[in-house]
Amino acid sequence: MTTAQDVTPLLDRLGVRRSSSGLEARSPIDGASLGHVAECADVGAIIGEAAAAFDRWRRVPAPRRGELVRRLGEVLRENKDDLGALVSTEVGKVTSEGLGEVQEMIDICDFAVGLSRQLHGLTIATERPDHRMMETWHPLGVVGIITAFNFPVAVWAWNAALALVCGDSVVWKPSEKAPLCALAVQALFTEACRRFGDEAPAGLSGLAIGGRTVGQALVDDARVALVSSTGSTAMGRAVGQRVAARFGRSLLELGGNNAAIVRPSADIDLSVRGIAFAAMGTAGQRCTTLRRLFVDANIYDQFVSRLKAAYASVRVGDPREEGVLVGPLIDEEAWYAMGGALQAAHDMGGVITGGERLERAGTYVTPALVEMPAHDGPVLAETFAPILYVLKVSDLNESIALNNAVGQGLSSAIFTNDLREAELFLAESDCGIANVNIGTSGAEIGGAFGGEKETGGGRESGSDAWRAYMRRATNTINYGRTLPLAQGVTFDI
Ligand code: NAD
Repeated sequence: MTTAQDVTPLLDRLGVRRSSSGLEARSPIDGASLGHVAECADVGAIIGEAAAAFDRWRRVPAPRRGELVRRLGEVLRENKDDLGALVSTEVGKVTSEGLGEVQEMIDICDFAVGLSRQLHGLTIATERPDHRMMETWHPLGVVGIITAFNFPVAVWAWNAALALVCGDSVVWKPSEKAPLCALAVQALFTEACRRFGDEAPAGLSGLAIGGRTVGQALVDDARVALVSSTGSTAMGRAVGQRVAARFGRSLLELGGNNAAIVRPSADIDLSVRGIAFAAMGTAGQRCTTLRRLFVDANIYDQFVSRLKAAYASVRVGDPREEGVLVGPLIDEEAWYAMGGALQAAHDMGGVITGGERLERAGTYVTPALVEMPAHDGPVLAETFAPILYVLKVSDLNESIALNNAVGQGLSSAIFTNDLREAELFLAESDCGIANVNIGTSGAEIGGAFGGEKETGGGRESGSDAWRAYMRRATNTINYGRTLPLAQGVTFDI
């Protein structure tokens, strides 16, 4: 069945209406048009509604706000199959990954519901008698959410579920490559609000569909207290500077150039599986995709030949078909970027296995494994496609130095059964995510997610990431009858 035929019943069930003109949605599965979606004409008006909604929502008790997010999780559970299928149709993820993305939304809703009773601060010892000092956390305001194409629904939920329990309203600028997913999520959120009742104000979660200019309007609006932006490093550089210029807050989740190290003591079967999934899964279009691999010289030949066998066995094709592990690239542009990187690697003496374009509608490629003579050129950049650069290394210190020798600092992994090696790596990898005997991709929502350096420094999802969505106040209370000043200062009048 063509994607255009496939999508209509899905959209009907999810409550999505297309329009006769506007932004065109396309499926990377077969390149077919999925229809048009109206673009946002007035971002300022949506932000205005969200600001008004914030004034009401921040007064709703946090556990009650959690109830709305619980309702959202409930609606997502009921619609998981349809929304997962829409993710597959609009961005080309294999079925289990489309469903997995919706599961992540459900998981963050569960997490946020618990969090809604735990938005607590510290009580701090004070130097003044009969005083108490404490920290309190308060709702921040309107949170702008800008998302990338490759996680068209989960990243909104990572941000929105936390922002909503924290008492914020949100305005979402989804990727222009996945507007149908955004409309579907908006319809499901509306249903959750209906079930929740009148306490959810209109405009609590606004949707602004469009391209870069719509994103920029969100970024430049002083009513948006926090801009949480996920995408390329180039986007983050532009967004971060503009938000900083108006003293707004930004949370940046940007590109990665993730590496793994394989040591002689590693469990080879486990390592090959972990590396193959991390490098080829989602057709190399995850921020945490494995892009660089450092293999110890003593096991290099044996390990790389096992990896090549895994590459040869993987099925590339229509992501809706059973047994397919690698779906299409998002568009032709992605193929040009991949082709350019492979050419540059070849020119440097890289030996390429795979990396061929398949002759069929849509942009399908076989994942590329490139044995590189040096850690240079295209190896230093994130190319958003399935290319794994493999280098032979002589020791662990060299591997860790190379792991850290790129601009980005998102995810990293070591495969070893040597405790000392594992601990040294965890201490010295400069990434926000460092794993042992697991690949670089596939984070769980319980942990804080994000990376250092050009990855932007933001943290989303679990742990204490909620603090980014609130403002902190330090309160000092005097319950005595005198007014002692701090640091022994006197001021007698
Ligand atoms: P992209 O940077 O092209 O676009 C991301 C979003 O930013 C889109 O909604 C786009 O319209 C918007 N945008 C672009 N320029 C803007 C500007 N100047 N002002 C405001 N908005 C702007 O990224 P993409 O191609 O959609 O996604 C792939 C990239 O995203 C990769 O680099 C990947 O590593 C990264 N990514 C990072 C994470 C993470 O959590 N660290 C997660 C997913 C994707």
